[in-house]
Amino acid sequence: MERLEECPLCKNTKFETHSEVTDHFLSHEKFMLVKCSKCNLVFTNPRPSQIDISPYYKSADYISHTNKTKSISSFLYKLVRSYTLGKKFRLLKSLLTHSTEIHHLDYGSGTGHFIEYTHNKGWISNGYEPDSTALSHSNKSISQLILNNIESISNKNYDLITLFHVLEHVHNLNDTLELLIHQLKPNGVLLLALPNHKSFDAQYYKQHWAGYDVPRHLYHFDRESVNFLAQQHGLKIDKIEPMPFDSFYVSMLSEKYVGHYMTLLKGFLKGLKSNRKATATGEYSSLIYILRK
Ligand SMILES: [Zn+2]
Repeated sequence: MERLEECPLCKNTKFETHSEVTDHFLSHEKFMLVKCSKCNLVFTNPRPSQIDISPYYKSADYISHTNKTKSISSFLYKLVRSYTLGKKFRLLKSLLTHSTEIHHLDYGSGTGHFIEYTHNKGWISNGYEPDSTALSHSNKSISQLILNNIESISNKNYDLITLFHVLEHVHNLNDTLELLIHQLKPNGVLLLALPNHKSFDAQYYKQHWAGYDVPRHLYHFDRESVNFLAQQHGLKIDKIEPMPFDSFYVSMLSEKYVGHYMTLLKGFLKGLKSNRKATATGEYSSLIYILRK
């Protein structure tokens, strides 16, 4: 375990206790979340170091990395994924002003579903994925597009770098951002898709909210902390888009963590409520931040 003495985003040394959250998914250990008094970032502290964290990912159920359909919820997850791939693609396409030779990096590409989609649409897409288990689940034709060492993503002059639920897992927050921003063309797009702890489902489930996912999630972002992040790294926030399907998945999982019966039905209804509230507040379960260099 490593205890951070400084905020991993702004280096401030003053934080307050936010909450105590259990790893409901795997270890059942408890972790503390603290909130930085300057940039409002909530982060897991203490946290497993980069070396110590791998056992917390060792589960056949970590479905963002695996391909086996075992349960109804992972079946639904895949159904939604195939729909949202198209939606993500159309959103990104609308942000790019030119139509030829789109150079795209999906950082933390997992099994590579998104780059498979963008590759088939004619983009020059690469993935970056350090996790060998995820790599081994990629389709053969796609796995060659996935890079696994950080040097190989350099000097590519990307139009677009995407991180779908990835930044909250990265130990070296500012260094990683700097590295990626450096690889972007001027006016290039950095997309960050992140769970939002200001959403209704987060406020409702509190310490059982699946979006905390400690200790795998090292940071718990909201609009304020992403705003600070953008300013600190010289980026501007172009737009913020909802991820309305995440509320259902996260609520169903949270219902399971609470220990309720009929988790799918109850989670579905809470997901619906979360989205309905978010139409007024904008605080969806997950948000996509479109940042420009
Ligand atoms: Zn801070």
